[in-house]
Amino acid sequence: MLLGVIADDMTGATDVALMLNRAGMRTVQVIGVPPVGSALPEADAVVVALKSRTNPVAEAVADSLAACEALLKAGARQILFKYCSTFDSTAEGNIGPVANALAERLGARQAIVCPAFPANGRSIYQGYLFVGAVPLHESSMKDHPLTPMRDSNLMRLMAAQAKTDVGLVDYAAVLSGPAAVKARLAKLQAEGVRYVVTDAVTNEDLMTLGAAVSEHVLLTGGSGIAMGLPQNFRKAGLLPERPGPKELAAPAGRAGIISGSCSTATRGQIAAALAAGLPALKVDPLALADGSQDAAGLAAWALSQPADKPFLLYSSDDPAEVASVQQRLGREKAGAIVEDAFAEVARRLSEGGVTRLLVAGGETSGATVLGLGIRTLEIGPEIDPGVPWTRVVDGPEMVVALKSGNFGTPDFFLKAWKLLR
Ligand code: ADP
Repeated sequence: MLLGVIADDMTGATDVALMLNRAGMRTVQVIGVPPVGSALPEADAVVVALKSRTNPVAEAVADSLAACEALLKAGARQILFKYCSTFDSTAEGNIGPVANALAERLGARQAIVCPAFPANGRSIYQGYLFVGAVPLHESSMKDHPLTPMRDSNLMRLMAAQAKTDVGLVDYAAVLSGPAAVKARLAKLQAEGVRYVVTDAVTNEDLMTLGAAVSEHVLLTGGSGIAMGLPQNFRKAGLLPERPGPKELAAPAGRAGIISGSCSTATRGQIAAALAAGLPALKVDPLALADGSQDAAGLAAWALSQPADKPFLLYSSDDPAEVASVQQRLGREKAGAIVEDAFAEVARRLSEGGVTRLLVAGGETSGATVLGLGIRTLEIGPEIDPGVPWTRVVDGPEMVVALKSGNFGTPDFFLKAWKLLR
């Protein structure tokens, strides 16, 4: 392994894994802290997906250190601590404390702070983070329920969380190229400055920064910064030319779709699948509650459908229906009853020979992955922005695509299969 990534949430992990994959690194995503003693799979880059963005600081630090240990043991030469491109964090952290703990562990005297992600409108100028045309604290992030961002100055934010001075590599230095950035970093290091915010407005800037930090053992930033890292390994002769995957080899077997997502995009995708004539069965939370539907019956229905088309099991409904179900069952119970059923259905489907599975819904995906006992996924081709096909490395032999609610074009459930062979 060349690069180890510690991501502070699941979708952020997929995001950075896709970025690395596209830039030619074979990438594997591990869900949760790898158990002590378990070997990580062989890959150019391994991304550990944690849930450490908003949990208590001590827990986030402990999980991140455990992930770092596993990555180092598997041979990682460089560690990227990946957080959100809007620097999602509270006044206490967790970005600063986690970065401090990783820097201590790795003996890193300096690490950059670069959440820039130009493709998504996140840019940094004079150390201020912009979301599109407005500074972070004027963006919708100011009202985020868990991590409201009320300051846009990354030096100030990081200094408060990490309790240390934070420097800046300004845009003039970045425009002058890797040598100028390196010189500026060296000067700050001589002054004892551990963290350095780096301006970046375009993808080219991220390539410049990537080249300038090839010797850094620890990097911190958004998935954008990962763009400039594969070039270093390639230049050092450690990484062969690998075009991003266009297809994924899938084991022979049946194909199916599970959808617990009630988001607008998913409901459009279901309408398109129904119109195209996919065999479909609606899962009703009230029927699950009174026992007239159950996981065994749902899986048996799916497995009895003709195998030439993917089947569709969906509980997805419009907001009025969801609200009425929630009123009858309670919001939490309604969610849990559907998630539990789908987790059990997924297990039964896999046992029944389903090897290609699309899952719609963030929570639904989490439950399904748990039900199938999946811990490791190899990232394959991107179906739509943010949603790759993945191959299960350490569980049932199958390929899965986990789609969060609002992702994907209307024909997602119909076109995804074309990337499998
Ligand atoms: P998304 O990514 O679209 O937000 P999630 O799977 O994360 O989808 O969340 C959808 C939630 O709604 C899940 O907890 C799921 O179990 C629940 N759910 C699914 N169908 C229904 C329904 N018909 N009525 C009430 N809740 C539902």
